[in-house]
Amino acid sequence: MTRAYKKRDGGSGKEKKERRPAPLSLKIFRAFAVLTLIIIVVLWLFQTVFFGAVYKTVRRHDMKKCTENICSAVCEGEEATDAGVLAASKQYNCCVSVYRVSGRSGERVAHSHIQTNCMIHNLGSDALLTELYTKAKEEGFYEKRLEMTFDGSEDIVVPDRADGSNPSTVIFAKVVSYDGDDYLVLTDSEIVPITATTRVLTYQLIAVTAFLALASAVISTVISKRLSRPIVKMTDEASLLAKGRYDVDFDSEGANFLEAKRLGESLNYAAGELSKLDTMQKELVANISHDLRTPLTMIRGYSEVMRDIPGEMNAENIQVVIDEATRLSSLVSDVLDLSKLTEDGAAIKPERFSLTEAVRETLARYSHLTERDGYRFVFNADSDAVVIADKTRILQVIYNLVNNAINYTGDDRLVTVTQTVSDGKVRISVTDTGEGIPEEELPLIWDRFYKVGGFHNRGKVGTGLGLSIVKNVLLKHNAAFGVASKVGSGSTFWFELETA
Ligand code: ADP
Repeated sequence: MTRAYKKRDGGSGKEKKERRPAPLSLKIFRAFAVLTLIIIVVLWLFQTVFFGAVYKTVRRHDMKKCTENICSAVCEGEEATDAGVLAASKQYNCCVSVYRVSGRSGERVAHSHIQTNCMIHNLGSDALLTELYTKAKEEGFYEKRLEMTFDGSEDIVVPDRADGSNPSTVIFAKVVSYDGDDYLVLTDSEIVPITATTRVLTYQLIAVTAFLALASAVISTVISKRLSRPIVKMTDEASLLAKGRYDVDFDSEGANFLEAKRLGESLNYAAGELSKLDTMQKELVANISHDLRTPLTMIRGYSEVMRDIPGEMNAENIQVVIDEATRLSSLVSDVLDLSKLTEDGAAIKPERFSLTEAVRETLARYSHLTERDGYRFVFNADSDAVVIADKTRILQVIYNLVNNAINYTGDDRLVTVTQTVSDGKVRISVTDTGEGIPEEELPLIWDRFYKVGGFHNRGKVGTGLGLSIVKNVLLKHNAAFGVASKVGSGSTFWFELETA
């Protein structure tokens, strides 16, 4: 049974009829029903329509084998005796007669009569015998089929059959020669199954059909219940997940088949990821609002002081306002950069440029720091390395790494940038002589808003987004990157790009 429900098609307003898929249990039940029906039809066909034909083929094959076996024995010099032919006759369930023919006369030397409605033991005259001998002599192998009637027209004496039907029999005749004599081997058997046999088979078939139908109904109900139970359960749990219940546990362990177990595991994984995403989103909003509020409070406070208190409108206070506004704008642009970079479709725009030059240019921008605050920048480059990458983004990476090195370097105010080229790769390393980063925090510094030393450190320097931007840019370039740091002696941040 399929039900249909109407669905509105987007803006067109047209009503679309969509077929509603049937439940799994119904599908399984239907599949079983069809399979059972096919089995029953095939059984009925073989037991009724084709049964006669199959039975005849098998009987004829057996008789032929029986005839040939006896002929081979005669040819090998074995004397044809009643006891000798009885074994073959019983094995293949047919009557046997063996005649020795010399000249124009023949004499039966062995026989076995195991079927009542047999013709070779009910011959009224020699006419049929002569025909069998002549034809078999000519053709080597002769098969004669006889539908017996009881009108007495043939010279055959046919005994009454119990069920009143006319027997249909086949005689196989073969002539072999041995020691100057011809031997006529005749085998005879009915080739139509008797009505009683057919009736037994029909009853059996009815019983088998009923049993199959019942068994298939029971098995399909049990299997469909077993298969659909975990899926129905997971569907209920998934609707809870859709409502924001990320703690929902998809019972993958309780699943009774592999696909359901895998589905449960995937859904559990998805629920975990959704939960992480949700937490991250909440943290992000909290972090951004905190980081926006701090400079805004400062700007507001200083501005109010300058407005209300005479003499406070001085260069120092105005600088604080400018610094906080700059911090605010760098936070906003970092957030925008990061959201652009984490967009799935965000593409990089590769171009060919000299990485060595790019580093040199970035360091040159800090020349005012050299003069004003005594920072020292050392750039060691073994050659000029050209790469194909998104220049703007790579400059941003270099800038963020150098900026961090400046912010965190030691009292000697030394920042060293090293470029090495090997195996078709150029590595840029930015080293400072600062406090370094504890080992357990190294994997975390690449996360958004992470600051070594925890929340109290917030607002000290930077937005906490710089390394997250670096990571995203380098991931988009499939570039290797990392950090080596030792508490007390400084850190080295590095990344590698393929040379062009
Ligand atoms: P920020 O803008 O705060 O520097 P980043 O994402 O660039 O944010 O860095 C995250 C954190 O990693 C920093 O807050 C700092 O604690 C630590 N960090 C980054 N670079 C260095 C460095 N060169 N030396 C020591 N700590 C560093």
